[in-house]
Amino acid sequence: MTKTLHRTEHVPNGTYRNGTTQQLQPSELFGLNVFSLSVMRQVLPKPVYKHLLEIQESGTSLDPATADVVAAAMKDWAQARGATHYSHWFHPLHGLTAEKHQSFLIPTQDGGVITEFTGENLLQGEPDASSFPSGGTRSTFEARGYTGWDPTSPAFLMEGRMGKTLYIPSVFIGFNGHALDKKAPLLRSIDSISNAAIRVLKLFGSDAKQVVTTVGCEQEYFLVDRELYLRRPDLMTCGRTLYGARPPKGQEMEDHYFGSIPERVLAFMEDLELELYKLGIPVTTRHNEVAPGQFEIAPVFERANIATDHNMLMMSVMRKVAARHDLACLLHEKPFAGINGSGKHNNWSMADDKGNNLLEPGHTPHENAQFLVFLTAVVRAVHIHSDLIRASIATPANDHRLGANEAPPAIISVYLGDTLNEVVQAIVEGQMHKTRKREFLNIGVSSLPQLPLHDSDRNRTSPFAFTGNKFEFRAVGSGQNIARPNMVINAIVAESLNHVADEIEALLKQGKEFNDSVREVVQKELTAHQAVLFGGDGYSKEWHDEAARRGLPNLRTAVDAIQAFTKEKSVALFSGLNILSGSELNSRYQIKLDTYIKSISIEAGLMSSIGATQILPAALEYQGRVSATIATTEEVLSNSSLSGQRKLLELLSQAIERFISRLNHLDRARAAVPETDDHSAVACYFRDFIIPAMTDLRTSGDELEVIVDESLWPMPKYRDLLHLS
Ligand code: ADP
Ligand code: MG
Repeated sequence: MTKTLHRTEHVPNGTYRNGTTQQLQPSELFGLNVFSLSVMRQVLPKPVYKHLLEIQESGTSLDPATADVVAAAMKDWAQARGATHYSHWFHPLHGLTAEKHQSFLIPTQDGGVITEFTGENLLQGEPDASSFPSGGTRSTFEARGYTGWDPTSPAFLMEGRMGKTLYIPSVFIGFNGHALDKKAPLLRSIDSISNAAIRVLKLFGSDAKQVVTTVGCEQEYFLVDRELYLRRPDLMTCGRTLYGARPPKGQEMEDHYFGSIPERVLAFMEDLELELYKLGIPVTTRHNEVAPGQFEIAPVFERANIATDHNMLMMSVMRKVAARHDLACLLHEKPFAGINGSGKHNNWSMADDKGNNLLEPGHTPHENAQFLVFLTAVVRAVHIHSDLIRASIATPANDHRLGANEAPPAIISVYLGDTLNEVVQAIVEGQMHKTRKREFLNIGVSSLPQLPLHDSDRNRTSPFAFTGNKFEFRAVGSGQNIARPNMVINAIVAESLNHVADEIEALLKQGKEFNDSVREVVQKELTAHQAVLFGGDGYSKEWHDEAARRGLPNLRTAVDAIQAFTKEKSVALFSGLNILSGSELNSRYQIKLDTYIKSISIEAGLMSSIGATQILPAALEYQGRVSATIATTEEVLSNSSLSGQRKLLELLSQAIERFISRLNHLDRARAAVPETDDHSAVACYFRDFIIPAMTDLRTSGDELEVIVDESLWPMPKYRDLLHLS
């Protein structure tokens, strides 16, 4: 980008209207609001900076003396840029982020103020944990929870209308040491996979000291006109439309995908990018998506924990910037029925501390053998724990997408691409030394063929696809926090890497040669877990049948899927790796159930009220007008049959009757929610009775929408919402 910004220029975000004429390139904006490593290198005494780097690498906690120095430097830096407050910023279990702002100013006895921000303030905040969901791990009398700075993620400034706030990315831990957030388990999973991957790398002679997981997610979203949005109570409250007939022109023409971006949207995107640059978020691509009004933005991949923070930040900045442009940014997985929903492709890989991507096929036989070991571990992990992967993205909102022939199916399988699949098949068949064509398969002797990048891009129906040098988990929902899915991927792959390392080590101990040991283990594991590999059409009926024969779970709804967290095998996995204890896991399960119940209950309640107070009155009004017209017309034209008009009135009247009956049915179902402490039973009730009642009511509402006089219809229609001009 070559565009220059003048500080005096009237840019939409207003940040640079401060009278100076200095020019700012987007490259100069990058990281402007981040207390990054390079800022720390400049402002911290050398030994403190070095110590901080060591802490980041080893994952140990910050000592009070270092914390004091860092805090003082952070405060000076933030205040010099106009910050008045600071806040620990964390990811509680409800899926959003939370913050509690604290002033830097402390009143003194003599009526003055001093500014204070100590190492202790940096390290620890004390939000009242009772106001956050804990899933029963903590009674309210033990309400204390601690937020602690995660020194691997840099602090940053958020600009408000009046001032700035220093945000400190934090973990949130309960009084008893339980993780009350999504970040602490993610960090623990990163440690686990690092340790396991290092074990494998050591076998291959590497001296890597740390392995990180890398994540880049492609974020899809919708933009709608804000004024129209404000007239849709369903969009405002639930993020999705609860009623709405399909427009005459939906996405049938497929003319939106990669089409030219409307000017108004482009202005939003440019403004958004500048805001994200300031926060050090490296966004690169932007384009239209399949559905009208749908777009995508993707950053360059980063370490998983930073990518997680950045994705949460990005979503909140997107909402704010959209409002500035009189738009509303919809991050819900399915804002519009009958129109593609939004997801977040989660690209995932592992890299060692020299920056080598461990899922990059190499140039030498040795590198390729190592690549195959890592690949095998991922395949094994997904096969054994596909239920956990499914559970990690299970929400009622995502249920609208998964399996709806637009997003990957709820069956989790792995797609490797044709070339790699051929390699795997040959390994499984033990044909590693055969023909010239297959010569490459003799791992340890010859090399793999060049894998075409995006060999697997052709299969968009696969939930977990290898795309040349990374896996792309495509079932993540657009509005979700990516901490959970990445924590699960890290954990299951860590377990498999440990398993594979155990096996290779055992064979070596028996005196087997290294290449033979690797080959044997790779063949054995790929053979045992090839059932998870699938290259065909994930939407097809045949695949559903075939997957069932292969014993792959097909967990259609979030309620079914989240049971996976309570299984013995899951508890053994997460507690064995010290990522989540049994009770921490159970708390997540309980919160998932609660969230499921609450969100559907809110939707059902709103649906009923929109139905009773907006749709029904409009339909009755129209009915009154039609019948009055018929009556007066009959008086004037006494011998006309008016059969068409009578028919219209009859159809309208029947549709209204159906609507009322379905509305009553939903209300009865809402009144009959079982009163029990068994949240799982309640969630099942919502799945089996409330959701079908909502679907029926919606069909009736949409039927009325296409009959009733447009000028009487109480809400903007899809047609208006979806086509931005
Ligand atoms: P698409 O899937 O649409 O072809 P891209 O190939 O542009 O998209 O990449 C998608 C995302 O994958 C980007 O965010 C990119 O940074 C990320 N990515 C690339 N390499 C890696 C990696 N080694 N680890 C994690 N993410 C990666
Ligand atoms: Mg992609």
